[in-house]
Amino acid sequence: MVLEEKATLEARSQILATVREFVQRDVLPVVSKMEHDDERPVELLEKMREMGLFGMNIPEEYGGLGLDYTTFAMIFEELAKGWMGALCGPLGTHHILAYTIANFGSDEQKKRFLPRMARGELRGGLALTEPNAGSDVQSIQTRAVRQGDHYVLNGSKLFITNGRNGNVFALLAVTNPKAEPRHRGLSCFVAEKGPGFTVGRDLDKLGYKGVDTCELIFQDYRVPAANVVGGEEGKGFGQVMSGLESGRINIAARAVGIATAAFEAAIKYAQQRNTFGVPIAQHQAIQLMLAEMGTKIQAARLMTYDAARKKDSGERADMEAAMAKYFSSEVCQQVTLDAMRIHGGYGYIKEYPLERYYRDAPLMIIGEGTNEIQRVLIARQLLQRYKI
Ligand SMILES: Cc1cc2nc3c(=O)[nH]c(=O)nc-3n(C[C@H](O)[C@H](O)[C@H](O)COP(=O)(O)OP(=O)(O)OC[C@H]3O[C@@H](n4cnc5c(N)ncnc54)[C@H](O)[C@@H]3O)c2cc1C
Repeated sequence: MVLEEKATLEARSQILATVREFVQRDVLPVVSKMEHDDERPVELLEKMREMGLFGMNIPEEYGGLGLDYTTFAMIFEELAKGWMGALCGPLGTHHILAYTIANFGSDEQKKRFLPRMARGELRGGLALTEPNAGSDVQSIQTRAVRQGDHYVLNGSKLFITNGRNGNVFALLAVTNPKAEPRHRGLSCFVAEKGPGFTVGRDLDKLGYKGVDTCELIFQDYRVPAANVVGGEEGKGFGQVMSGLESGRINIAARAVGIATAAFEAAIKYAQQRNTFGVPIAQHQAIQLMLAEMGTKIQAARLMTYDAARKKDSGERADMEAAMAKYFSSEVCQQVTLDAMRIHGGYGYIKEYPLERYYRDAPLMIIGEGTNEIQRVLIARQLLQRYKI
């Protein structure tokens, strides 16, 4: 093994040990109460900031940790085992803005935003979805009109994670409504909160507690032209789609984390709970479920690491990221339900964490592009790669 690789692996195991310890010591004792109170875990987020996690994918020259995607995925997996919503939510959306600036921003934009984002002083988000446009991103309506050295934005966004507590967003808007194809008329702005940018209602959710998901409203909101990502109009769609590629690895990793936590609870419980004179783990029906769960999680984890490795290598990884996100999130939903079944009635009550895992699983299917959209993307790529 070359020295550089060894150093990366050592850094990885060190940071993972720190994150695991944080989850065990600080998160697990408080998660249930905070989740059910839908409380934002300010102190836990501060500890994550101190660990440098808000700079995990920001290059070292801008003060970040500059981690590879495999380590990135492993960190999300560990955090999701503790509390997917309130820990992975703000961090995941922050990382997409950081990714967009680090990969497509001008030098000036990188210097202006990345160091503050890496220190966690600026908290980021992603503002794509609108009340009438989710999967069909190209039909967004938020309009940005250039006036001198500024753009004036009008419109609204919905479902924006970290909308209330974040300060700065990767915001997609229409700069040329006549463009054909439509995506050439979309531009991405680094939008800091200010006059004309208001936060509307908070959405009350099934799960994903402890993190805000909001409506954002723009009324004659002025953004400096210097905040168009990369300085060029019409590139926004490709920039945010690239960000979603790493976002999908992130969601796949979260799904593996939730599923693992559910599985570990179930396999422990199955050895402690007796029925008909034996631990339920001795009933073949339960064994079959455990085998199915363990196997699927292992496959999901390997697919996630494979997509991360591909992204690290600089190769095109959109299909692998979509496959990992699709497969892992479906596995997550199946496993959380099976873990609940194994817990019998106890799985359904709030004293046990199973109901939280079960409520958080469906968002892994919907977020960062629904699984229907993932399958459309996968099929498109497969047909290209296997073209006759
Ligand atoms: C808790 C939460 C947090 C979120 N956070 C953010 C965020 O931070 N930033 C952000 O921008 N967005 C965010 N979203 C929005 C999320 O990305 C969208 O909800 C998602 O992409 C789906 O869009 P939609 O809700 O408009 O559904 P629609 O696009 O209306 O889809 C409805 C149904 O039709 C299916 N469908 C649509 N088109 C096709 C097609 N071509 N082929 C087959 N089936 C299709 C979909 O799969 C789905 O089943 C969040 C959503 C939630 C619930």
